[in-house]
Amino acid sequence: MAEKKVTRIGVMCSGGDSPGMNAGIRAVVRTALYHGIEVYGIVRGYSGMIEDDIYQMQSRSVANIIQIGGTILKTARSKEFFTKEGREKAYSNLKKRGIDGLVILGGDGSFRGAQTFSNEFDIPCIGLPGTIDKDIAGTDFTIGFDTAVNTAVQAIDKIRDTAESHDRLFIIEVMGRDAGYIALHSGIATGAENILIPEKKTDIDNLIASLQEKEKRKKLVNLIIVAEGEKGGADYIDKIIKEKIPGLDTRVCILGHIQRGGSPTCFDRLIASRMGYHAVECLMEGRFNVFVGIVNNRINYIPLNEAVKKKQRINEEWMKIVKILSS
Ligand code: ADP
Repeated sequence: MAEKKVTRIGVMCSGGDSPGMNAGIRAVVRTALYHGIEVYGIVRGYSGMIEDDIYQMQSRSVANIIQIGGTILKTARSKEFFTKEGREKAYSNLKKRGIDGLVILGGDGSFRGAQTFSNEFDIPCIGLPGTIDKDIAGTDFTIGFDTAVNTAVQAIDKIRDTAESHDRLFIIEVMGRDAGYIALHSGIATGAENILIPEKKTDIDNLIASLQEKEKRKKLVNLIIVAEGEKGGADYIDKIIKEKIPGLDTRVCILGHIQRGGSPTCFDRLIASRMGYHAVECLMEGRFNVFVGIVNNRINYIPLNEAVKKKQRINEEWMKIVKILSS
C-alpha cells in the first residue's frame, strides 16, 4: 500500500449515537497526535462540516472521556449533505483548513455519505462502525452494541422479577428498527420464551399455539422480546395475545432510549480504542474508503460499499437455540 502523507485529519460522529464513541474519538486523536498529525473535531457530523463547526483538538481535549457514553463531538443527521451543494460547502470548509483525511464514526448511512463524499472530492475517508444495532456487514462487532445489549439484559432481569411474582407475561420491546441483534442476544441471555425480530417473519398462529400449549402444561411464560422493527412492535403483539388468550395477564414494556446511553462496557471501550488506532494507521498507509472492523478478533479493513450493500445475517442456529432452551 502506497504511503501518503496525511498532515491534518478530521474526526466526527454521524447518525445514531452509541456508547463507546468517545473512546473511539480519544483513540483517533491521541494516535494522530503521536504521529505528528493535527486533528480537528467536527461537531454534529455532516451538519457541522457544512456549517463550519470545526475546532482543533489536543490531547487534553479527550481527557477523561473514555468512560462516558454519548459523544463529546455530538452527532446529527443532515438533510443538506444529501445534496451536491451541501457536500460542496462541506468540502470547502475542510479544504480551507487543509484537512486531508477523515475518520467517521457512524452506521451504514454515515458510511454511504462518506463514500459519496470521497468519490466526489477525493478525500480519503475511514469509517469506524458505531451503532448499537450491530447491523453492519463485514465486522463481528460494532462500537456500542455490547453496552446496549447489557443495558437491555439488566432491565429485562428486573422485569422478570416482577413478572415471576405476579405470574405475568411481559412483552418487552428493545431497540432495532431494521435489525434484531439486541433482541436476539438479550432474549437468549435472559431466557425469553420467544424473540421476534424483523429479519424473520413472525408466525402469529404458531406463537399463540406455543403459548397455549405451555399454559396447558402449567409452564410459566414470563418474557417475550420484540425488536422495535417487528411489525406493530410490542403493543401489536400484546393486542393479539389478549384477543386470542383472554385469560393471560400481560403487560408491555418498551425499553427505549435507555439502551443508547450509559458508560460503555470494557468490551466497547477496547474495540473502540483498537479501531480508532487502526483508523489513523489506515490514513497513514494511504488506504481510503474502508471501515475498520473486527473479524475473529483480528482487525480487518472492509470496503465501505460492502457495509452499505450487505446486511449482517442472523444465525439460524441461534433461533433454534431460543426454541429448545425455552421449552
Ligand atoms: P446511521 O449512520 O446511524 O445509519 P443515517 O442513516 O441517518 O445514520 O445517516 C447519517 C447521515 O449520513 C445522514 O443524515 C446524511 O447526512 C448522511 N448520508 C446518508 N446516506 C447518504 C447518501 N447516500 N449521500 C449523502 N449523505 C448520506
